Amino acid sequence: MSKKEYHVVSLSGGKDSTAMLLAMLEKNMPIDLILFCDTGLEFPEMYAHLDKLEKFIGRKITRVRAERSFEYYFLHAPIKRRNEAQFCVQFGKHYTGYGWAGPKMRWCTSVLKDIPRERFLRSLRKEHKIIEYIGIAADETYRLLRKRNQKPNHVHPLVDWNMTEADCLKYCYDRGFDWNELYERFSRASCWCCPLQSLSELRKLMHYYPKLWEQLKVWEKQTWRKFRADYSVTELESRFEFEKERLAQGKPIKGKEFFTELRKRLEVMSSE
Ligand code: SF4
Repeated sequence: MSKKEYHVVSLSGGKDSTAMLLAMLEKNMPIDLILFCDTGLEFPEMYAHLDKLEKFIGRKITRVRAERSFEYYFLHAPIKRRNEAQFCVQFGKHYTGYGWAGPKMRWCTSVLKDIPRERFLRSLRKEHKIIEYIGIAADETYRLLRKRNQKPNHVHPLVDWNMTEADCLKYCYDRGFDWNELYERFSRASCWCCPLQSLSELRKLMHYYPKLWEQLKVWEKQTWRKFRADYSVTELESRFEFEKERLAQGKPIKGKEFFTELRKRLEVMSSE
């Protein structure tokens, strides 16, 4: 006997998946479950948005989490390293935890998002044919090329409706969802502590969210991996402070002279 279909909206809380959910509801499309994977690292505005959205649609958003917190996996999880002896020499001692995510090591995507989601859906899959609705916008089709987005049970309504990222944001704004200006500051609304975000977004993180920035510095002291290949968190802070000084003096914050002066400042900082 064929399994009954079960329609799952994969909600990140961002503009695209929110627009997809709202449009699906407006079109009376079948929805059995609205699923949000909570990393615990969303901006405060995102959690407020989810509560507001839940009230607006009058339906529950199912929130799933990993068994342990980000901090546990980041700092304390016992990790088997390929060459522990070499690791200890390189970093001065044995460290537990995955450390910051890197371009080739996005452990948090699987540990905090994929695994909890799959664990939750596994039991449903026994009795249902799960159809997952994924909020990839029509101008993000490069994401469709990724293997993880090519599963046969995935549906991409925004692509079918030709809704671009800009269309999605407008669609949400028109319905009163503005994330308290989160999208005026950031082009993405994912984990606030992500080292993979752009320098411009990290600059805004330090400016608008000083408490979160302080937390980055606390974590930096406890982990083995540099925040980014080019800058630690404290180096970034120095750079951003230096930029402010330069701007106040009417000097440019790019170009050879800027980077020479910045390098000198960072060298002084590391020697102190
Ligand atoms: S956004 Fe960054 S920190 Fe968050 S899960 Fe993805 S890679 Fe990890």
